[in-house]
Amino acid sequence: MSKKGFNTTNLHSDRKDNPEHGVLHKPVHPSVAYGYEDARHLAEVFQGKRPGYNYGRQLNPTVTALQKRITQMEEGIASVAFSTGMAAISSTLLSLLKEGDHIISSAFLFGNTNSLFGTLQKLGIEVTFVDSTEARFVENAIQKNTKLVFVETIANPVTQVADLKAIGQLCQTENLIYCVDNTMTSPSLFLPKSVGASLIVNSLTKYIGGHGNALGGTITDTGLYNWSSFENIYDTYRNEKPELWGITQIKKKGLRDIGASLGPEAAHHLAIGSETLSLRIDKACKNALALAEFCQNHPKIKRTYYPGLLDHPQHERAQQLFKQFGAIFSIDLADDLDCFEFLNGMETIVSSSNLGDNRTLAIPVAHTIYYEMGPERRASMGISDAMIRFSVGIEEIEDLMTDFDMALT
Ligand SMILES: *Cc1c(COP(=O)(O)O)cnc(C)c1O
Repeated sequence: MSKKGFNTTNLHSDRKDNPEHGVLHKPVHPSVAYGYEDARHLAEVFQGKRPGYNYGRQLNPTVTALQKRITQMEEGIASVAFSTGMAAISSTLLSLLKEGDHIISSAFLFGNTNSLFGTLQKLGIEVTFVDSTEARFVENAIQKNTKLVFVETIANPVTQVADLKAIGQLCQTENLIYCVDNTMTSPSLFLPKSVGASLIVNSLTKYIGGHGNALGGTITDTGLYNWSSFENIYDTYRNEKPELWGITQIKKKGLRDIGASLGPEAAHHLAIGSETLSLRIDKACKNALALAEFCQNHPKIKRTYYPGLLDHPQHERAQQLFKQFGAIFSIDLADDLDCFEFLNGMETIVSSSNLGDNRTLAIPVAHTIYYEMGPERRASMGISDAMIRFSVGIEEIEDLMTDFDMALT
């Protein structure tokens, strides 16, 4: 079959998988357990010799259909779904790393990922945080025991764009696992496989689900990393094709043993949401660009952070890598404006902590999602007390502009 477009493939993926009764949507299967007429078949399923389902914590048909859809979107070889994006990240790292290993992470990181990496340090895994906008900082941090490099595409809230391509080349040369969190761009704007990613994180809660009504996360293996050279793979998982060793270990040691499984109802919501991903994100990006340009020229706004602006330090890189510049932007208000008053002056835009919703949401980051981090780490990430992050939705741009006008006067 010829290779179809992103939307076409996405919309028809359930149907192409021969679902029951010719239904167009993969049904919600709530069953936790699966019965077998022949007990030998049950044993073969457990031993991985026969495809099939055994227990809901590891596999569910509704979730499997979503995993397949994300794999297609990312042009990977396999995906594992989890209950949240954080579950995907933590289960993946805990299943692949051991005490004494070292990872290099972007310093510009989603707050809870940053917090998780602090926990890994307590467990004896070394973490070096580097400025990921230049590959040489990653290169300088490489040690003998370095196993993995972790970066985000567009960082939250200051919108730094990692040197994704050069870091990918470095990881390939040094044979390091390259883990890219694609949540902020989603596979609609960017394919991390194109820069050599080994593993891709997506918080489905954000753009892929899009409606703010279900949590979920996935890890996708691109097939680019040679797992046979990775010493942390357990002997038990070295028996099938080497390209599947990593994802199998993530599935068994991560999903099965840690148990943060995605429920079938959430998987259904996320799958429905994913059908309109590219339409929603295109509109949200256009709105974000218009608002960021408006803010950039406004006397009551000190600074605007958005990769789509010409003065953004990585504007050209973002243009080369991404289809559009994302739907997140941040501002520093002028000194005489109170960020809470500003937010309370908005009518349509909601003060809320989520992102990637259809609705435009705003949050004073230093006082909320980056509060626990403390003033020093915030300063090192370029987060000021007057910073507000916007996650732009798909409303009519005139209505969003009106809100900014009102809140600024
Ligand atoms: C939200 C987010 C996560 C975590 O996803 P959850 O589904 O909320 O657990 C991870 N990375 C990034 C970049 C995010 O924005």
